[in-house]
Amino acid sequence: MNNQITKWTVPYIDLNTQFLNQEQEILSEIKRILEEGAFILRPAVAEFEESIASLTGAKHAIGLNSGTDALILSVLAAGVGPGDEVITVSHTHVATLAAVHHAGAIPVLIDIGEDFNMDPDEIEAAITSRTKAIIPVHLNGRVCDMDVILEIADKHDLIVIEDSAQALGAYYRGKAAGTFGIAGCFSTHPMKNLGCAGDGGFVVTDDDDLAERFRLLRNHGQKSRQEIVLYGYSSRLDNLQAAILNVKLKRLPQWLERRRDIAKQYSAGLADLPIKLPPRDNEAPIATRGAEAMRHDVFSSYVIQTEHQAELVDYLVSKGIETFVHFGPTTLADAPNLQKRLHGMTRTRETVTRILSLPIYPEMTDEQIQLVISAIHQFHHENGLERHRDV
Ligand SMILES: *Cc1c(COP(=O)(O)O)cnc(C)c1O
Repeated sequence: MNNQITKWTVPYIDLNTQFLNQEQEILSEIKRILEEGAFILRPAVAEFEESIASLTGAKHAIGLNSGTDALILSVLAAGVGPGDEVITVSHTHVATLAAVHHAGAIPVLIDIGEDFNMDPDEIEAAITSRTKAIIPVHLNGRVCDMDVILEIADKHDLIVIEDSAQALGAYYRGKAAGTFGIAGCFSTHPMKNLGCAGDGGFVVTDDDDLAERFRLLRNHGQKSRQEIVLYGYSSRLDNLQAAILNVKLKRLPQWLERRRDIAKQYSAGLADLPIKLPPRDNEAPIATRGAEAMRHDVFSSYVIQTEHQAELVDYLVSKGIETFVHFGPTTLADAPNLQKRLHGMTRTRETVTRILSLPIYPEMTDEQIQLVISAIHQFHHENGLERHRDV
């Protein structure tokens, strides 16, 4: 018995319920794959890749073993190497920085804006003659300000690789996360909006040559059994994981809508408290999602900002509510052993001491949402922290 499942009144996510909702479909797929012994680069992987290409509008999707490897292979395939600098943010998963480091390059970290994403106004000050690429990270399911980022990249002849690990299904001006740069890197880790039963990921690209390079890099550089054309890696998405993802993918649109709905309920229920709510998109319904819709966020996390981070975490634990501080309360910028260069971390350092990710998952009931909202109200009430919105 996993006590994680029974301990929380409102867990941060609920993978058990998600499994039970598709139990028969998933188990029969697992059984079929095991009976066939079809484990490596078999039809379920190809089917998943086709579905992802059509979902994102990218020409190619290539299944990989993790979001981390999607980043590593993208940085390598882009030709980033020793001595190069790559501009990204501190406020991300460490894998974004690690991918740059493993290519022999230096991550140059810039500050974030109010929406937790890369502040595009900070990019140009960080550009040097060694800058080769920019990696915007679409954090919490919200696409970065790609108009400005692409304009700067174009002006300075820089490659753009997107860390879209948290943004599958998110849009910016009618275009899917991951399709703005040369490659979009995604993760299907169980904590992501579309998660498999272990590690997994993929990369999307419109470039035929790059797609071919990803296929070689993920599979030991093998063009065929007889022909090895470069030193590659072992970075394939397992066929079994792909089969599970194919089953789950059918529910993704409804899951993402539910996430947006939960976010809306949180934002309405918490509006009168002295906490900062996450940014809102223009709330275009999915049917009208198009060029006129500036942003369509998918809330991989719902992040509030509070002056009482640690106290609120403890209070919510006492009410059986699980939360996370993603990524904090210390920054990667201040991690002593990680090689990097910094460019103004004021907002990043302030933000990590305030952020708190509330439970959000498609299986969450309206009752659970209300429990979280009222617990946060209670915390403010008991501590004399209530305040009217316009004070
Ligand atoms: C999860 C995540 C990664 C790493 O993905 P894995 O599949 O766990 O390797 C990279 N970047 C961001 C922003 C992530 O959230």
